[in-house]
Amino acid sequence: MICSRCIYDDHIPYITFDSEGVCNYCHRFDQLEEEYPKGEQGWKKLKSIAEKIKKDGIKKPYDVVIGVSGGCDSSYMVFLAKELGLRPLAAHYDNTWNSKIAVENINNVLSSLEVDLFTHVVDNREYCDIFKSFMKASVPEIDCPSDIGLATTHYLACEKYGIKYIFEGHSFRTEGITPHGWVYMDAKYIDTIQKQFGSYKIKTFPNLWLSSWLKWTVIKGIKKIRPMYYIDHNKEKAKEFLSKEFGWQWYGGHHMENRTAYFANNYFLPLKFNIDLRYPEFSALVRSGQMTREEALSKIKEPKPFDTSILDEVKKRLDFTDEEFEEIMNLPLKSYRDYKTYKQTFERYKWFFWTMYKLDLVPKSFYMKYTSKYK
Ligand SMILES: [Zn+2]
Repeated sequence: MICSRCIYDDHIPYITFDSEGVCNYCHRFDQLEEEYPKGEQGWKKLKSIAEKIKKDGIKKPYDVVIGVSGGCDSSYMVFLAKELGLRPLAAHYDNTWNSKIAVENINNVLSSLEVDLFTHVVDNREYCDIFKSFMKASVPEIDCPSDIGLATTHYLACEKYGIKYIFEGHSFRTEGITPHGWVYMDAKYIDTIQKQFGSYKIKTFPNLWLSSWLKWTVIKGIKKIRPMYYIDHNKEKAKEFLSKEFGWQWYGGHHMENRTAYFANNYFLPLKFNIDLRYPEFSALVRSGQMTREEALSKIKEPKPFDTSILDEVKKRLDFTDEEFEEIMNLPLKSYRDYKTYKQTFERYKWFFWTMYKLDLVPKSFYMKYTSKYK
């Protein structure tokens, strides 16, 4: 069965359909649309948030930290922050697998908008070893340590300059809602996997320990805001605008600004786990009217493009022979449930995270993702 509105079908975990054949993820989209109206109303709300941020930024060198990857959404967000009259500090976590275009994009956008950059670089051998450990663990989250590193880098930038706000580039209208249970990530998970499979101790990788995270959110009160939720973000228009204004370049696919992300999304996940991240992306574009359902249904049938030179690079940098790599690809599938994580702690203290959500310290999506029990 396939949703009558988007392109999610039976292979999506925890999918349910109503009597009209519309899936629960489409309903979640409608809830978010209601919660975060765009247009004039959304802009007004975003302006009022910006005013509060400015007030809290008085006497500080910057108002808000923005994570930049060289991608379309994060680049557009820096522009948006300037439009709102804010003084952003861009933060970048470099996992040492950036594409050349991504680095050029970051430089072009930031220098045109006169925005400073805070960077955290990990030791490349250490990061490669973590990446390799996740592959050996045979779980789908091989690129998720990058997301954790990025999140920690945001907090480190906030801490250094006393900044209280972080802008996140997620947009439910263009990136969509990842199906429950596809991927999971936390600091304990990374630590467990690295201790079990790795050959380096974690030293330069910025892991996001629960204790540090509680310090930054509860004690320091650092808040995350998703400005794209309040605007009518159109990906194609944003790309056109960025290239015209800042010489920004398109690198040919969502999250392709980094080579580990590219390898995970275009090779490892679809081939080993039957996870194709075009499903959430295309479904989101269909729901928000930026792609027709027919177009999405036909595009999803096309094989995912993959540049095989990336595969060679992964093997070379991770020091895999062809045989070893094949062995990794054929290992029995595992999930985060097979390893020690914080998940049970999050589930046990559901009431605490509910309170945090109610106090506006964590987003609802965080509360739902981390405290819900998935079978
Ligand atoms: Zn749907």
